Amino acid sequence: MSHHWGYGKHNGPEHWHKDFPIAKGQRQSPVDIDTGAAKYDPSLKPLQVGYEKVTSRRIVNNGHSFNVEFDDSQDKATLKGGPLDGTYRLIQFHFHWGSVDQQGSEHTVDKKKYAAELHLVHWNTKYGDFGKAVQHPDGLAVLGVFMKVGSAKPGLQKVLDALDSIKTKGKSADFTDFDPRGLLPGNLDFWTYPGSLTTPPLLECVTWIVLKEPISVSSEQMLKFRKLNFNKAGEPEELMVDNWRPVQSLNNRQIKASFQ
Ligand SMILES: [Zn+2]
Repeated sequence: MSHHWGYGKHNGPEHWHKDFPIAKGQRQSPVDIDTGAAKYDPSLKPLQVGYEKVTSRRIVNNGHSFNVEFDDSQDKATLKGGPLDGTYRLIQFHFHWGSVDQQGSEHTVDKKKYAAELHLVHWNTKYGDFGKAVQHPDGLAVLGVFMKVGSAKPGLQKVLDALDSIKTKGKSADFTDFDPRGLLPGNLDFWTYPGSLTTPPLLECVTWIVLKEPISVSSEQMLKFRKLNFNKAGEPEELMVDNWRPVQSLNNRQIKASFQ
């Protein structure tokens, strides 16, 4: 590719394999979650979301989505339990969303697409840092949360109010004292399977933990995501919408459920 990857017709998911051949690998993400085929696994432990001492730092438009970044120099916000061995540390979260409410999520449930999907990205502390962790099949744990349109999610509003200051690619702003616990649903029942990053370099290093219960966000809240831009300041405006990868083949993988 002479141009960088993105979500457009000429540089989108159908082209990524040319620069990132693992795009056609055997444990790619996202996938459709066939709820009838998922198997309850009584050996799965409860998820332990340890975000009490979380410290947010910054919010950044990276031209594909925007990241809320955390201080991951200590065990301040961790994910343990569920399918995981050891301790995973929160480094960032971001979202994928649609141009309309009928699409936007990356994972689907019995082929149903949600309006958006939140990804809270954690790395396995036994590897020392994020960059090392992504080189291992158990390097990352991503907690996925579906978003449907309904009542507003109050815990999301501080994020949305920050988007005006990071409209275009490369912009960033201080974003301190944000508590991501306000983005989670009440029930932490989940599906889990081994997969990959859903953006290049598409590395097969992710234990996916996708929550069954979606959060509700309002129609007005969804509109704020869709005002962001893929482009840099001063370039023609391309609205940041439909920044989701379609589902990939499950191949020889079994999705496990934490619930019956
Ligand atoms: Zn993501």
